Amino acid sequence: MQELISIVVPAFNEEVVLRLFHEKMTAAFDRLPGYDFEIVLVDDGSTDRTLDLMRELASRDARVCVVALSRNFGKEAALTAGLDYASGDAVAVFDADLQDPPALLIEFVRHWKAGYDVVFARRTHRDGESWLKKSTAAGFYGLMARISRVLIPRDTGDCRLMSRRAVDALGKLREHHRFMKGLFAWIGYPSIAVDYRRQARAAGDTKFNYWKLWNFALEGVTSFTTAPLRLATYVGFVIAFLAFVFGAWVIARTLIWGDVVRGYPTLMVTVLFLGGIQLFSIGVLGEYIGRIFGESKGRPLYLVQLHVPSLAAKVRHDGDAV
Ligand code: UDP
Ligand code: MG
Repeated sequence: MQELISIVVPAFNEEVVLRLFHEKMTAAFDRLPGYDFEIVLVDDGSTDRTLDLMRELASRDARVCVVALSRNFGKEAALTAGLDYASGDAVAVFDADLQDPPALLIEFVRHWKAGYDVVFARRTHRDGESWLKKSTAAGFYGLMARISRVLIPRDTGDCRLMSRRAVDALGKLREHHRFMKGLFAWIGYPSIAVDYRRQARAAGDTKFNYWKLWNFALEGVTSFTTAPLRLATYVGFVIAFLAFVFGAWVIARTLIWGDVVRGYPTLMVTVLFLGGIQLFSIGVLGEYIGRIFGESKGRPLYLVQLHVPSLAAKVRHDGDAV
């Protein structure tokens, strides 16, 4: 049996690019003879015709698998669903908008055959992205590199190819607050980067605004490090030390020069400052407690309302049953 390569594609309201994506992706397959392919299209609760288009593609092309989630669960969940339903010996992840050129697949497969478990795409340029997005992204990766023990490669997205054992390892991480880039890094295994120029979207608009990206960054920080909790401890410690020194000075001053009732400004500043720090620290605690709450419910990561398997997957699973 030929080796099967699955392409996982999360899509949310991508009706304008889906057909083009399918065309370009299958063209890349033609340049890789000797492998079977399947495209796992995950519909993340789109409100446009994305799902209809997916079903149409599946009816025309037996390599297409459709997994439709019951509502919009977000890209990370959609990606997880795709990885769960992919049956390939290697699984690649591509965005539906053609920002990651399908030609990357050829390099991916070459490195995978050379023995790497994870081949990830690294952006050398980001076309069509604003200065603000680029610089905030750079700041975020810089911060994460400093405070997290898991090294998350810079300038990489979700676009990558993983061997079966890497996908299985990833499948074991069922946490709800999913920061995929971090999870990808967490599993380890021999990895290699392929540089590419990230294209502008072929059509349609980005689904991530700055507020979503900010929340995404918070997710990244809180899922992979407890540094903010420690920060609260250190800030508290430093302030307590300064307060002690200041208190000693106030006492000494009172003993030497006598007591003059002054210091309303100092009092105000101290109270407000400490109040601010306390609220901030409680907020940090709250972020983590909220995540514990989320995890403790143990809900599934996504629900599927429709699954159309690819032909290759059917053959494999029937084979297993015999
Ligand atoms: N996406 C998704 N669910 C969402 C948001 C986005 O499945 O809730 C998909 C989207 O269809 C696309 C990929 O995630 O295939 C990347 O999204 P987008 O291009 O909007 O993000 P950007 O490239 O701007 O970071
Ligand atoms: Mg995009």
